[in-house]
Amino acid sequence: MTPSWRATVLTLYPEMFPGHLGLSLAGDALARGEWALEARNIRDHGLGRHRAVDDTPAGGGAGMVLRCDVLAAAIDAAAPASDPRPRLLMSPRGRPLTQAQVRALSEGPGLIAVCGRFEGVDERVIAGRGLEEVSVGDYVLSGGEPAALVLIDACVRLLPGVMGKAASGVEESFEGPGLEYPHYTRPREWEGRPIPDVLTGGNHAAIARWRAAEAARLTRERRPDLLGRDGP
Ligand code: SAH
Repeated sequence: MTPSWRATVLTLYPEMFPGHLGLSLAGDALARGEWALEARNIRDHGLGRHRAVDDTPAGGGAGMVLRCDVLAAAIDAAAPASDPRPRLLMSPRGRPLTQAQVRALSEGPGLIAVCGRFEGVDERVIAGRGLEEVSVGDYVLSGGEPAALVLIDACVRLLPGVMGKAASGVEESFEGPGLEYPHYTRPREWEGRPIPDVLTGGNHAAIARWRAAEAARLTRERRPDLLGRDGP
């Protein structure tokens, strides 16, 4: 049976995949065929004897730019126009990735992730192949591969059957309007720091109230920007 959620990554470094996605819960689910991952080498579509994929920037300046014709050929070979999966370009200029977007992607057929390198990609391929730019944060990576691994990781853990306990996807940070409450486990006291009494008292309503209050406090202190924003 073909897995219903499939990720295709276009990269100059296919050996970076599956990377950590081949381990732990995501890796077990991958091995069971509950999702699929294919890493395709952009260089297979490179030009000439040296399989060139990049060239100097028009207008001058440092670095190299991935060629639009090479990238388009790689995209066309990986996904026919009829492929329903969204085509995402990993890019620091993209819309910052959110849990809501991750959830929507995990509920779809999968995704195609294009990884840039060097200075980035020739702008024309973005419109020419309908790429949506996605950023994993306001910092610059040396390539799109770690961003694609982050994106796919976040999606895969939401697929049915991937995480051991279904409930543990629901109460987490960003699933509601803010951050998650703090966790504790044994020992009951460690280096003079006890577990808060309420958590060991067995009063479930009190525990729920404490957790909601802690979540609200942490969100207020650390991420006031999340307050007043709708959850997914
Ligand atoms: N010159 C570009 C940065 C290029 S970094 C700029 O200033 O905007 C090289 C590649 O790494 C990019 O093409 C992109 O695919 C990837 N990348 C870097 N930072 C990223 C981020 N925050 N999110 C997603 N992808 C990123």
